[in-house]
Amino acid sequence: MDPVKRLRETVAGERDDDPFRVTGVMIQYYVVCERELWFASRHLEIDRENPSVVRGTRVDDTAYEEERDNLSLGMVSLDLLQDGRVVEIKPSSSLVEPAKMQLSYYLWYLEEFVGVERDGVLVHPTERTRESVELDDERREKVEDTIRGIHRVVTNDTPPEAIEKPFCSSCAYHDFCWC
Ligand code: SF4
Repeated sequence: MDPVKRLRETVAGERDDDPFRVTGVMIQYYVVCERELWFASRHLEIDRENPSVVRGTRVDDTAYEEERDNLSLGMVSLDLLQDGRVVEIKPSSSLVEPAKMQLSYYLWYLEEFVGVERDGVLVHPTERTRESVELDDERREKVEDTIRGIHRVVTNDTPPEAIEKPFCSSCAYHDFCWC
């Protein structure tokens, strides 16, 4: 069965025996590194002392503190709704495409399961930048391809091969790959 259909049926409560859930973090992991997604899907504990994890947590905890909504909608949790737009807050713009895909997934999820069409904005408070994200047909197709890719990775019995990337040294799973 097409994983997108399986996800739709899970949200509709029709697959309680064999659900397929996709969170925003899974979307981000898939775009950054499929191996990282596989480790996370096995609930391997991440290294909370890792500087990049600590930095991400600190920005997440303090940025837009008063306005933050943390709207939980089933599988996704939105940072903030501002002027009718979905706001995703990220500590830095170094991994911009994964963050855009995560936000695109939120927009797709809202359209699919809540029936509302929204634009998004990606915010990097430490860099004082904002970037608009629109769910056009190309992004919609990318989101659905990403859902299919996630299904392929998480249903595999073994992790994808480790391929070194510029950010491996700051990855929470570094020791699983390179030590
Ligand atoms: S250390 Fe590198 S290859 Fe290993 S999970 Fe992290 S990003 Fe992927």
